[in-house]
Amino acid sequence: MRDHLLRQPGHYLFVLPAALVGLGVWSATPADEVASAVHRILPLVLTCLGVGLGLIYNRVRAVCLLLAIALAFAILHGLVGGFLNTGAVTALTPLLFHAVSVWLPLLMALHGLWPERGRLRQDLLLRGVVSGAAVGTFALLAAQGPQGMHDLLSDQHWPWLPTGWSRLAQLPSLAFVLALAGLAVQALRQPRPLHTAMLVALLVVWAMLPRVFLSPALLPALASAALLLLVSAMLQESFHMAFRDELTGLPGRRALNECLQRVGATYTIAMVDVDHFKRFNDTHGHDSGDDVLKLVAARLAAVGGGGRAFRYGGEEFALVFLDRPAPACVDAVEAVRAMVADTRLTLRDRAARAADDAVGRLQRGRGGPGVVVQVTVSIGVADSRAGDGPQAVIKAADQALYAAKDAGRNCVRAHGLQRAVAVRSSGDAAQGNASR
Ligand code: GH3
Ligand code: MG
Ligand code: MG
Repeated sequence: MRDHLLRQPGHYLFVLPAALVGLGVWSATPADEVASAVHRILPLVLTCLGVGLGLIYNRVRAVCLLLAIALAFAILHGLVGGFLNTGAVTALTPLLFHAVSVWLPLLMALHGLWPERGRLRQDLLLRGVVSGAAVGTFALLAAQGPQGMHDLLSDQHWPWLPTGWSRLAQLPSLAFVLALAGLAVQALRQPRPLHTAMLVALLVVWAMLPRVFLSPALLPALASAALLLLVSAMLQESFHMAFRDELTGLPGRRALNECLQRVGATYTIAMVDVDHFKRFNDTHGHDSGDDVLKLVAARLAAVGGGGRAFRYGGEEFALVFLDRPAPACVDAVEAVRAMVADTRLTLRDRAARAADDAVGRLQRGRGGPGVVVQVTVSIGVADSRAGDGPQAVIKAADQALYAAKDAGRNCVRAHGLQRAVAVRSSGDAAQGNASR
């Protein structure tokens, strides 16, 4: 099976642009200079870009996180800019700084963990009302007793709690720990780039906050990096939605078409079709059929010989070998066919599992009862000599696939070759046979 998403390096691609921009801004900023236009405008541009994308892609949570970070940046930028200009802080600066340090993690956790529901506008309005009411109430209380509020936020309330591990006061540190725990659990339970990006963005702002007066250049650098993490994660997710097949995780038809537009003079396409799959679905159910498709996809993804696997549609897959004629690919294709045929899958009792997931987990642990099934695939291979252009080659590979089906299934046939590339008796394996 494929690696867990969080263990795949590709999952973290969104970090790259954020790290590059953050480093670039930081290295290009003199230590005591954050007032130039570019330092104000870059986070603003990133926020506008991200909010625009978020609204297009219906990512309300990301929109709210972007706005929270942008607002915190605007407040801090004013405070730090004033400090750099005058060399002193105003009476309100400590209160505002502590308020940002408490509210930013709380707002990021609130909106990051609050599931997106309902219509975009209603969802945005509700979030705006809730966070506006909370922050507004806080602002009113702070206006009435600024010193008291400052002390509340900055005092050491729990002397027995260890200090020194965080450079922020106790209450803001606690807010960050709680937000971090919530977003980390979400990122582990529902791994997707946006959830990981929310977690990393929180860590970035946590690293930034205590340093903004000591190293002002970190403010535009890390704020831009945090914003860009969310923007890049949204782009990465939308790219995945367009190019990846959701069920199997393989690149989908659109990715195949794009790949085929860039082929050179020599290439090979293998069309793969699961044998008797309708019968399998009828016998074991559609959900078990889906599990089988995932398993077949995982085997195909491991194809050797430089091949790339795609889900063509339904129970059909395609393997593409660039810069190789068919004879140079058939060994890898034959190996992958054998690998699928040799795989056994144990189907659990789905109804029982759904009824009591805890018991189901125990049964799984003990290797409890299950139906062992196996499926086979038939494969047709054709290379660039078989037709004029990729679509013609796919057609030729399809014809070879029909020949493989006619030959009894669970075998590979190459277009235009009289000799069977490899034939193995389909036996009862191709029936999706079940045995206890
Ligand atoms: P053959 O050996 O000739 O290929 O027989 P077959 O039954 O596999 O061929 P057919 O094209 O008649 O059936 C394909 C079946 O694949 C029909 C459909 O129920 C099933 N199928 C297509 N997509 C999916 C899917 O995403 N999930 C599941 N579980 N089944 C699917
Ligand atoms: Mg088919
Ligand atoms: Mg089939």
